[in-house]
Amino acid sequence: MQKKIRIAIDGPAASGKSTTARLLSKKLGYLYIDTGAMYRAATLAVLRAGIDVNDEQAVERCVRENKITLRIKNGEQRTYLNDEDVSDLIRTPEINNVISIISSYPKVRQILIEQQRALAKEGGIVMDGRDIGTVVLPDAELKVFLVAGLEERARRRQKDLEKQGIHLSLEEIKEEIARRDKLDSERDMSPLRKAPDARELDTTNLTVEQQVEIIYNWAQEILKARE
Ligand code: C5P
Repeated sequence: MQKKIRIAIDGPAASGKSTTARLLSKKLGYLYIDTGAMYRAATLAVLRAGIDVNDEQAVERCVRENKITLRIKNGEQRTYLNDEDVSDLIRTPEINNVISIISSYPKVRQILIEQQRALAKEGGIVMDGRDIGTVVLPDAELKVFLVAGLEERARRRQKDLEKQGIHLSLEEIKEEIARRDKLDSERDMSPLRKAPDARELDTTNLTVEQQVEIIYNWAQEILKARE
């Protein structure tokens, strides 16, 4: 039987990682793991506890004391904070505003990275994030780094937010995305960076279907070479 591979998809905010990774995982019959959701749930826990996000020790304690888990329900990933399904509560401007501070803390990352590695152990996964190809799964069989122009990323994010009933101007979204990318790229521990052996894909002028098809073909090449 063909051994299932691990696919790491990294890239800046709103570059299309999660949509691409979800569809790709369905096409391959693999599990999709959205690591950003874990950092989002951690941020929700901190905000709910009323902790100052700049208090590193208090944030670490809070993340350690709260159980953040990913579970699969009806084939879809759901994100849990303790036993509450928070999947629909973690994509808000309040969380976006502070998440890069919380995700820059080494101990917070350590806790979540350990879980991410455990989830990937069996292979057959598509995992998206910022440091999957560089730190979480440095030996993933396929690494992809997605990029897209800022304007296009902001337009895509605006559409997603509209569906949630959140209305922000393109300028506001552009600022938020650019600020988050800067913080994510400049942090000391596992910054947003393309792994040297990752394949870069610019999605600015591609449809989601085209993106998925390209990465699917890369995965097939790798699987064939391993037969
Ligand atoms: O991918 P998403 O936009 O949901 O990620 C939200 C934030 O979580 C990022 O801006 C980053 O600060 C953090 N993150 C991270 N490492 C990952 C995934 C997400 O630091 N692997």
